[in-house]
Amino acid sequence: MNFYAITNSKPLKLRKSDKIRVRYRCVVGCPFVCLISEDKKGPGFKIKTLKTEHNCEDVFENPRAKTKTLAEYFRSKVQNNPKLEAYANEIRESNPDSDVVINLSKDAMAEGKRRFLRMYICFNAMKLGFKQGLRPFIGLDGTFLKGHCKGQLLVDVAQDCQNHFYPLAWVVVDKENTLTWTWFLELLKHSLNLKDGTSITFMSDMQNGLLEAVRIVLPLSNHRFCVRHIDANWSKRIRISGEMKKYLWWSAWSTYEEDFKDQLKNLGELSVDIVKELLRYPPQNWCRSYFDTLCIKLDGGQQFYRVLQLLDLRSKRQAYPEDA
Ligand SMILES: [Zn+2]
Repeated sequence: MNFYAITNSKPLKLRKSDKIRVRYRCVVGCPFVCLISEDKKGPGFKIKTLKTEHNCEDVFENPRAKTKTLAEYFRSKVQNNPKLEAYANEIRESNPDSDVVINLSKDAMAEGKRRFLRMYICFNAMKLGFKQGLRPFIGLDGTFLKGHCKGQLLVDVAQDCQNHFYPLAWVVVDKENTLTWTWFLELLKHSLNLKDGTSITFMSDMQNGLLEAVRIVLPLSNHRFCVRHIDANWSKRIRISGEMKKYLWWSAWSTYEEDFKDQLKNLGELSVDIVKELLRYPPQNWCRSYFDTLCIKLDGGQQFYRVLQLLDLRSKRQAYPEDA
């Protein structure tokens, strides 16, 4: 009914609503009526009365046009037939100084066609917030898009003062590799004025071209492994016990090298192989004792991971345990 009210510009009102029926009417004097009530012949509800005739004027302020309804209404339209140029222009007009970049495929252009290749979005409000007071910490990750158009979503996320996630910028690309990450980071560098990356710490799973891309675009930045990614992936061969996970986290949190080595020794008593597996991830990139003072916060990964979980794009990967 909300969709009907919005598309027809009619301010429908709910005149009756109880457990067995709802009745919608339009403005006073308009013959429109819609009664939906329990179907006595079986389970469920049926439209019992429907008069679609109106004699009222269209309205431009419609109480049925709530945020949730509008989002639902436009979501499928935009997902299935994205009018990207129009969307980009709308962002530029309604959010001045935001960065929106759309790349078209050069191969397709050579054939005289226009085919979408990549899109980058960074809202000005997010830029300003980051520049004016957020810690110089940026999480990077990618995930698959499952909708009509497929491709991959790459995101940059910071943390606000309450350690809640703070989206900075995102791109839609065909796939995650050095080329697409480099393209993304070049744009991000420009949006956030990151220069050569001095004093910025990135955190990621360091996979699929990401390591190389960060090194090329922001050579003086720090780059850390997300320990939650290690926790989820460090050994496909050996069954990881709760105790092993505990030593992994204590290793990561060690503030001096001797402590780190002690934790590894404890872990080695459970399994020598598991230590070898773990050390395939260079400790310089995930253990606190090797970090400079700019980067001591590791548990940003949890919030960062939640962004993706919230977007419900992550069902393939196992969620991290809350207590890890
Ligand atoms: Zn009406």
